[in-house]
Amino acid sequence: MSIDLQFDSNHLWHPYTSMTNPLPCYGVVSANKALIQLDNGEQLIDGMSSWWACIFGYNVAELNLAAKNQIDKMAHVMFGGLTHQPAIDLAKKLVEITPKGLNKVFLCDSGSVSVEVALKMALQYWHAMDKPKSQFLTIRNGYHGDTFGAMSVTDPEGSMHELYHNFLAKQLFAPQPKITIDQQWDACDLDQITRMVIANKDNIAAIILEPIVQGAGGMHFYHPQYLKGIRDLCDKHQLLLIADEIATGFGRTGKLFACEFADISPDIICVGKAITGGYMSLAATLTTDKVATTISQGKAAVFMHGPTFMGNPLACAVACASIDKLISINWQEKVSRIEQQLKEYLAPCSDLSQVKNVRVLGAIAVVEMKEAIDVAIVQKQFVALGVWIRPFGKLIYIMPPYIIEKQQLKKLCDAIYRVASI
Ligand SMILES: *Cc1c(COP(=O)(O)O)cnc(C)c1O
Repeated sequence: MSIDLQFDSNHLWHPYTSMTNPLPCYGVVSANKALIQLDNGEQLIDGMSSWWACIFGYNVAELNLAAKNQIDKMAHVMFGGLTHQPAIDLAKKLVEITPKGLNKVFLCDSGSVSVEVALKMALQYWHAMDKPKSQFLTIRNGYHGDTFGAMSVTDPEGSMHELYHNFLAKQLFAPQPKITIDQQWDACDLDQITRMVIANKDNIAAIILEPIVQGAGGMHFYHPQYLKGIRDLCDKHQLLLIADEIATGFGRTGKLFACEFADISPDIICVGKAITGGYMSLAATLTTDKVATTISQGKAAVFMHGPTFMGNPLACAVACASIDKLISINWQEKVSRIEQQLKEYLAPCSDLSQVKNVRVLGAIAVVEMKEAIDVAIVQKQFVALGVWIRPFGKLIYIMPPYIIEKQQLKKLCDAIYRVASI
């Protein structure tokens, strides 16, 4: 049966699109490993892992099984006053694999919500300390989600702050770190943010950033010394550090978590996207004993958040299976093979006059064009070449599933070269 694309375009909103002039959508009937099956019979090689989430591709035997086993026990039960093994197992695994010191786990329903939770934790921490603070400091070109708190710390241009002008909290934005991960480190990169911290520290609850890889705000890979410098700055001036690892977590960058590049632990970490291997929406905010204890001993005495689907057993069971699989498949080897192949196959793009920069980190590759891309046109070209790649702005980028085969990766990269050279 073919998919009713007409109804879709008349009635369904898609991400960041117009209801009257939407970009065309392709109907998908199934997906398996690194292949997406369209209703017209065509198959596309997946370059996106469905926005960082499907790290093992689609229709993953172990994850299917975990979901089936759990659904026969219970799909859901409220987390207020009740608990269950899938949530406990997941919390154990998260405490074990995330950077050290992050021992207290808050399960929530999506990445944006985990950022809201992180911001609330920071505010409640200072409230409990009797030193209330009301602002967050972040860096330009960041992305932290589309809910109001998350949006307030997302780059003002990328998230169109002016649309929500009177409703959005005003945060502090330091310049984007300039020195990239493969350049020589220069401590001047920290000058401006250091000045901003010193001038505003009495009112800054936390610094929030994406460690090493800024994702949706421009796919920029900055230097680990910058992150290390931020940790030092937070320690020196007693600010909390929130690391948003929603995109970078679970091996994508070549480290299990990108904080490991700088060998730091944040005070609060947000994880999401790949946590369930892309099976369903789940995220978590982890914090230290110190932050959790302080919040709990404060005047409020409780942490004020509790989503309906908190700790959903089905999502937790699949997340446990996904983390087990990640650990058991020798992901380092897979990601580093992908990294080498991406570098090799995309090298020819550097010679194209249309291309400004080609960069690769772990299983992430970016071809930055000199001019903005017309997504509608380019999307069609990619589909005609048998690949699923969705560019934005000047960026053609891929973060394929870790199980992608060599020839499939080659085909993705060749398609990028073809499209970039048009
Ligand atoms: C995707 C993303 C979010 C938001 O997660 P959602 O699940 O889409 O709400 C937040 N931060 C980063 C770094 C992300 O990549």
